[in-house]
Amino acid sequence: MALTFDEARTCVLREAGVSMGTETVSLDEAAGRVLAEEIAADRDYPPFPRSARDGFAVRAADLPGELRVIGEVRAGEVFTGRIAAGEAVEIMTGAPMPDGSDAVVMVEHTERHGDRISIQRSIAAGENFSPRGIETGGGDAVLGAGVRIGHAEVAILATVGHTRVVVYQRPRVAIVSTGDEIVEFDQHPAPHQIRNSNAASLAVQVQRAGGLPEILGIARDNHESTRAQIRQGLEADLLLLSGGVSAGKYDLVEKVLAEFGAQFFFDRVKIQPGQPLVFGKVEGKIFFGLPGNPGSTMITFETIARAAIEKAQGLRHPPLLLMRARLTSPVRHKTGLTRFLPAILSPDGATITPMVAHGSGDVAALARCNAFLVIDPDREEWAAGEDIRVLVK
Ligand code: AMP
Ligand code: MG
Repeated sequence: MALTFDEARTCVLREAGVSMGTETVSLDEAAGRVLAEEIAADRDYPPFPRSARDGFAVRAADLPGELRVIGEVRAGEVFTGRIAAGEAVEIMTGAPMPDGSDAVVMVEHTERHGDRISIQRSIAAGENFSPRGIETGGGDAVLGAGVRIGHAEVAILATVGHTRVVVYQRPRVAIVSTGDEIVEFDQHPAPHQIRNSNAASLAVQVQRAGGLPEILGIARDNHESTRAQIRQGLEADLLLLSGGVSAGKYDLVEKVLAEFGAQFFFDRVKIQPGQPLVFGKVEGKIFFGLPGNPGSTMITFETIARAAIEKAQGLRHPPLLLMRARLTSPVRHKTGLTRFLPAILSPDGATITPMVAHGSGDVAALARCNAFLVIDPDREEWAAGEDIRVLVK
């Protein structure tokens, strides 16, 4: 039975689960990993009432008016005195508010004459500083398990002094290419042969998804060879196969997986490229049979299989980031399939131009494009100027 694109993705998100254990890494190794513990703040943030401006700490009730400047406080210092009625302390961004003050007047809104400043406007108490604990309270969770650690997550880990973090292990992902016509990419192909570009592209995609790619040998289009490569591939945590899933006489991947006792969740998805996409589980391991055309392999991995690798390493919400851009030329297609067409997204992300590509095996076009149009299966035409969904490459 053929699933729609959304059904296929939903199925993967449902059937694929966390399969990896955890390990502890230092903060400088944490980027790109998925957090496996909840992180709590070690103290209030900000830890003291912190000025958000360069200016003067005041009592709001004194304004407008003329105030006496009784001192200065810079970031990294503490003002030991207390502001009384009619007084102000010069303050810098990031400095703690002096006792007695309840607002900061920006320096631009003051006029200074010796040790006095005059301020023409009034101000509300609480303006231009962050009260202690307003961002997060001590002991409160700042990060939960299941998030990918990027630069901002590293920043909060550093802020709260969490220098070693528990993360999920990265899944080892076996990559098996199939086909009698395929030669390793460092070999010289005969005129009727093709270099194994899918192993190369998949390895990059797996790595980008947080997995550890393991490129295995090429399975030839016969039972013994396909069986041997699958057997070896099942040593890894997940298995990706490319090619051999169409309806041809020598497309043996599904048959051989069935001999291994595989459970198939789907073996056809209404997308192009990539219709004969196979997803299942065998010996407790998730596998995908990705169609072998390079465009099919790339698109089915990116939009559907990637989520399983992300879930295996504990990522709670594997993202599929689609944006919208304005078409520069009309698009027509035959309804029924969600189509991914190579395209050029303008540098400002505003407009998208379909590219001429010669089928899903056109690796040169896949290398030249920077995005894909995502064409809705229910609609036949889009006019120039309309918004359309875009998958960034
Ligand atoms: P298949 O899915 O096995 O029917 O293959 C479809 C097309 O993709 C054929 O033209 C193959 O030559 C090509 N193809 C299959 N596997 C690979 C691969 N590993 N690298 C590059 N092209 C491939
Ligand atoms: Mg083949």
